[in-house]
Amino acid sequence: MLYIVPTPIGNLEDITLRAIRILKEVSVVLAEDTRTSRRLLDHYEIKTHLRAFHAHNEHAKVEHVVDELASGVTMALISDAGTPGISDPGFLLARACHRRGVRVECLPGATALIPALVASGLPCDTFHFEGFLPHKKGRQTRLKYLSALPHTFVLYESPFRLVKCLEELIVHCGADRQACVARELSKKFEEVKTAPLSELLAHYTSKEVKGEIVVVVGSWQ
Ligand code: SAM
Repeated sequence: MLYIVPTPIGNLEDITLRAIRILKEVSVVLAEDTRTSRRLLDHYEIKTHLRAFHAHNEHAKVEHVVDELASGVTMALISDAGTPGISDPGFLLARACHRRGVRVECLPGATALIPALVASGLPCDTFHFEGFLPHKKGRQTRLKYLSALPHTFVLYESPFRLVKCLEELIVHCGADRQACVARELSKKFEEVKTAPLSELLAHYTSKEVKGEIVVVVGSWQ
């Protein structure tokens, strides 16, 4: 049995009672970065064995873990923040488990995209989640595709590339398109700003951008 367990994206209170119980009960917790996750587990007094697992594309590592799961060891997969598999490793392990008949359960919980989308005030009944855009090759093609979508789309972006990203969005979507920058969600300096892209660009060009960022863009309709 593999549990996929969401962990807080900033505020340590954003973890479910069930997530804490599962993390205590499993035999092994697989983590992206054991130092980051050790701090989290210590905070909740979880003493379960923590093991590094960076299986972005390492077939052998994934199969080794699935062998253990298939032999009856129960494990939980966590990432540095939020839900594993969402712009984080997780998909390959979940897929390998399904192929080998190992049960997979993902607990509902913290992720950055949903609070950003809902707080933005942009239509959220139908949306597209893009995650991180490619840095170079294929970036403009993706932006062109996204700009023509008939519904809201959601991007993950680094603070260092936010201004460039807003400039590119203006080229593809137009300066008047409504969008939102959701920064530092659930943390002390949380900021959710919805405005036309031109206004967002002026705002974020005038100061140093810090923290973690989700960009939500309304549709052209
Ligand atoms: N698995 C995570 C999830 O479920 O949202 C996402 C992991 S991805 C490696 C990290 C990106 O998520 C950040 O670069 C940022 O775009 C977004 N993010 C994570 N925490 C955030 C926060 N507190 N506020 C805004 N965006 C956040």
